[in-house]
Amino acid sequence: QGPLSPAPSVPAASPRARREGPPIIQAQGVQKHFGSFHALRGVNLEVLPGEVVVIIGPSGSGKSTFIRTLNALDPHDGGQITVDGIPLNGKGNLDAIRREVGMVFQSFNLFPHLTVLENITLAPTRVRRASKADAEKRGLDLLRRVGIEEQAHKYPAQLSGGQQQRVAIARALAMDPKVMLFDEPTSALDPEMIKEVLDVMKELARSGMTMLVVTHEMGFAREVADRILFFDQGNVVEDTTPEAFYQNPQHDRAKAFLSKIL
Ligand code: ADP
Ligand code: MG
Repeated sequence: QGPLSPAPSVPAASPRARREGPPIIQAQGVQKHFGSFHALRGVNLEVLPGEVVVIIGPSGSGKSTFIRTLNALDPHDGGQITVDGIPLNGKGNLDAIRREVGMVFQSFNLFPHLTVLENITLAPTRVRRASKADAEKRGLDLLRRVGIEEQAHKYPAQLSGGQQQRVAIARALAMDPKVMLFDEPTSALDPEMIKEVLDVMKELARSGMTMLVVTHEMGFAREVADRILFFDQGNVVEDTTPEAFYQNPQHDRAKAFLSKIL
């Protein structure tokens, strides 16, 4: 830097393009019943491109049910959901939605009889009709991104839980989703494997992926979440920044919940 270089007059560009463009996810008054049980009671949410939204709340509050409605694993029975402008109405647009939305579960759900690379190339070759060679090249790139390229030809049972979960993330990314949903992705992992999965998720967040993450990993939430949603009894009762949530939760249930997990 020479003495004549101008002082920077504008802040550095944000590393992630956030809060631009129309919402990727719009949920309005979303309801879900299981028989007489009212699991979702009018959930409203908008998620903008590049936002990272962490969902927390007590067990049974509807967190899993809600994110499962977002890719129609569980159909909602009231209100409206659109994903990238596509209405989720059960009328033949499920394939389109599932291509847009990647999902990672607590249990990794890999196909046990397929190798790691085959797990990743299956959907792109069948659904997206990619050639085998292209799908494999991209699969290997994704495995490199999640740090386990050398495991490509092993079977899931030969991998640790952390490695299997990273394969599950790579498999979801192989479809080029616009949104990634995570439902307690580290809850089934031994403590020493949690970090390797969270590191992959942090990298994904920084790359600009739109993410909804059900997790109680507070470090992750503080580091990468734009927003925290607190669910209670089938509804969002707080929707705020991590700072505001941890320092000053508004809702009694959120206060009680935080006092237990912190
Ligand atoms: P969370 O993920 O917040 O722990 P869930 O979304 O899994 O909560 O569940 C919310 C409520 O809905 C719970 O009371 C649960 O028992 C009920 N529920 C979830 N799935 C089903 C189902 N398939 N059939 C009946 N009840 C269900
Ligand atoms: Mg759950």
